[in-house]
Amino acid sequence: MTIEKSALTSGSIMIVGGGISGITTALEAAEVGYEVLLIEKEPSLGGRVSQLKHYFPKLCPPTCGLEINYKRIKDNPKIKVITMAEIEKVEGTAGNYTVDVKISPRYVNENCTACGECAKVCESEIADEFNFGMNRKKAAYLPHNMAFPSRYVMAPSMSADDRAKCKEVCKFDAVDFDMQSKNLTFKVGAIVWATGWKPYDAARIDNLGFGRYQNIVTNMMLERLASKNGPTQGKIVRPSDDKAPATIAFVQCAGSRDENHLPYCSYICCMASLKHATYIREQYPDAKIYIYYIDLRTPGRKYENFYSKLKQDKNVFFVKGKVAEVSEDSSTGNINLVAEDTLSGEKVRQTVDMLVLATGMQPSLSDDKPNADLQFNPDGFVINDFKKGGMFAAGCANKPADVVSSNQNATGMALKAIQTLVRR
Ligand SMILES: Cc1cc2nc3c(=O)[nH]c(=O)nc-3n(C[C@H](O)[C@H](O)[C@H](O)COP(=O)(O)OP(=O)(O)OC[C@H]3O[C@@H](n4cnc5c(N)ncnc54)[C@H](O)[C@@H]3O)c2cc1C
Repeated sequence: MTIEKSALTSGSIMIVGGGISGITTALEAAEVGYEVLLIEKEPSLGGRVSQLKHYFPKLCPPTCGLEINYKRIKDNPKIKVITMAEIEKVEGTAGNYTVDVKISPRYVNENCTACGECAKVCESEIADEFNFGMNRKKAAYLPHNMAFPSRYVMAPSMSADDRAKCKEVCKFDAVDFDMQSKNLTFKVGAIVWATGWKPYDAARIDNLGFGRYQNIVTNMMLERLASKNGPTQGKIVRPSDDKAPATIAFVQCAGSRDENHLPYCSYICCMASLKHATYIREQYPDAKIYIYYIDLRTPGRKYENFYSKLKQDKNVFFVKGKVAEVSEDSSTGNINLVAEDTLSGEKVRQTVDMLVLATGMQPSLSDDKPNADLQFNPDGFVINDFKKGGMFAAGCANKPADVVSSNQNATGMALKAIQTLVRR
């Protein structure tokens, strides 16, 4: 997708972030005739949704929503995608922005057919961040099996030997270590920030032991463990010994609704844990699942029905109480937890094979504010100033949301961006 700078004018829309919200905004605007430039910092589109095993309410795999959108993008000449790109600076006002974009080198050009011959000869490895570092991958890699664009990346840390081997083995002349980072400037009329969220850093919740004890994972790590393209090929096992867990506990609101961490509710964590209970049940018909919660939030009829169905499972136990401390039995790797059951008033002590922390969503921009005239709330979500107009936030850049609400919101922001252009 070569970018013709001259093709972009103040009649174009820039979208920052190529997750489900950014993709939706791009398609909505382009399919009614507007030029769109979609800027994504990772090597492929899809955002967090591509890391899920399934997504509620229907429990479809991410491919079912994303692939059709990728096809629509491919078929639409009005959408230009730039990956590995970030915004350096935005200047100007509604209807007339100048944006400096920095593009990092992929070291692989558009000739790549994703044949994978480079990965076969490459011996250098890097941590697999797509799987939250639970495995290592080759330094010549496809971000994941449904990556769009489906094109390899060469990690800058690759050894000189491996660089030479990758270049030599590529029949398509796609490997190019002379690539440099590039700075481009674009003129656009409106900008939609769809930069989404990142998982709250569970290591900061000291009393919950993440990072100290191997068999404590986060909810997003569980998504990767359960995914066929994840580090265990979809088998949910304990990180310490690959054992099938017979008892698993979930800690809801891990760091959420807590002034010391994230003071707000992330909206989807209760539903995510209920969904995770279905993943576990699929693999382990007799496993016992304990969900420790403050109060369960399953907004809307569909989510309430999902919860009602799960309540019929006799081996899923809901305990109203906050987990206060955890420790590890070093001989077994089991996790001991202490909580107060607020309904009975009793202290609960329990030992489980594995513990899952339902951590919340933190806005991607919270610690890394762009050089642009945007307003943020105290938690780092972008505030939409519709009076000023010109720049808007869609999806989880604006507030914690599920996919359905992110898509609805993204469609609305496409309209706001179009209105900016029409009123110029
Ligand atoms: C454990 C868990 C399970 C979930 N399961 C479900 C589910 O089953 N069903 C459901 O409906 N929802 C689920 N969600 C919520 C779902 O993940 C979000 O609704 C969805 O990811 C929102 O999409 P988004 O595009 O707004 O953000 P994201 O998915 O975060 O996408 C943002 C994109 O912007 C890019 N980006 C970030 N910063 C920049 C930058 N500075 N420059 C350029 N690009 C940038 C990112 O790389 C990413 O590609 C779950 C959430 C969690 C925590």
